[in-house]
Amino acid sequence: MNVPMLDVTRQNEPLREEIQTAIAQVCDSGAFVHGPACKAFEEAAARYCHVPHALGCASGTDALLLALMALGVGPGDEVIVPSFTFFATAGAVWRLGAIPVFADIDPVTFNLEAEDVARRVTPRTKGMIPVHLFGQAADMTALGQVARKHGLWMVEDAAQAIGATHRGAPVGGIGQIACFSFYPTKNLGAMGDAGMVTTRDPVLAEKVKILRDHGQHPRYIHHVVGTNSRLDAIQAAVLSVKLRRLDAYAAGRTAHAAAYAEHFAAPQYAGVVTAPRVAHGATSVWNQYTIRVHGGRRDALQKHLADRGIGSAVYYPKPLHLQGCFAGLGGKPRDLPHTERAAEEVLSIPVYPELSQAERAWVIESLADFAGSLAPAVPLRRAA
Ligand SMILES: *Cc1c(COP(=O)(O)O)cnc(C)c1O
Repeated sequence: MNVPMLDVTRQNEPLREEIQTAIAQVCDSGAFVHGPACKAFEEAAARYCHVPHALGCASGTDALLLALMALGVGPGDEVIVPSFTFFATAGAVWRLGAIPVFADIDPVTFNLEAEDVARRVTPRTKGMIPVHLFGQAADMTALGQVARKHGLWMVEDAAQAIGATHRGAPVGGIGQIACFSFYPTKNLGAMGDAGMVTTRDPVLAEKVKILRDHGQHPRYIHHVVGTNSRLDAIQAAVLSVKLRRLDAYAAGRTAHAAAYAEHFAAPQYAGVVTAPRVAHGATSVWNQYTIRVHGGRRDALQKHLADRGIGSAVYYPKPLHLQGCFAGLGGKPRDLPHTERAAEEVLSIPVYPELSQAERAWVIESLADFAGSLAPAVPLRRAA
């Protein structure tokens, strides 16, 4: 049976008529940039994230850039970011001439670890970017304590986590400002690129609004240099249709995650695979279901699944502190042990809401015969 890692068409196909009607309305209106479709989506997204301000932009990467620009990040500023994340988190910092300072992760949640962040604070540190990786909210309480103690801001990178919560608070409104991506593989996926900045702070919201429009305010008057980063009205129309289903999509992902968790609790997985866990106080919307495969067997498991027609993916194989473009920052192997270990062990398996019961059963059966094919369970040797 062929089980793709992700198949966005399965989600979009049932919405064909509704999406086509919404797109046709934009075409007929002639309002392709900003206009009613964008405003309607921004209002609905603000309600969904429980924030007063939601501002559409061209991508999640641009959302990060705009948020950092609104906070005044510039040359010489240090911003603490995870190394175990999608490139854009650090790339946005770098592009503003600032310095991404890489911190390690909590090995259980894969998210920024507050104590390690605290160790990396210097007099030049301006803020941090907690990423809610794979859909699970980062520990905003512990990170917030570090931020308050040192007078830092927090930009949430919520690109993978729309709808997740920390201590009941939806991501997007916990830090000073937050960034979302609607890249097609995200939980709320457009039919192209799209992104959004959210904040509770009216001053930051106004800045983002001006910055995404070349910094002009009023028209043709520039006190700051911004960029052109708009939410495409056609994408906004698509996103409004899909936002209405987002809770149902999240419920589908959660059901798959629960079934996998139950399966991985079996004794044959001890020492072979660790299933993802959600920390106390956090929720996950399961953008990815990411297991750890121990004993150097990750690539073997990936191949085993591929041989059975099952897609899987490694997010992310190379930590950012070891990327060539950041070599000038002096990152070395063993700097961030939890990050480097995760890069060697992680494997994400299909968890999209449209995954059928039969497909999920095939994934589980295939995982089970991988675990069963290994040497019979010997009590794990403890590290000396
Ligand atoms: C996808 C993603 C981004 C970038 O979003 P784009 O819309 O692709 O530009 C940033 N951060 C994280 C964690 C992401 O997963």
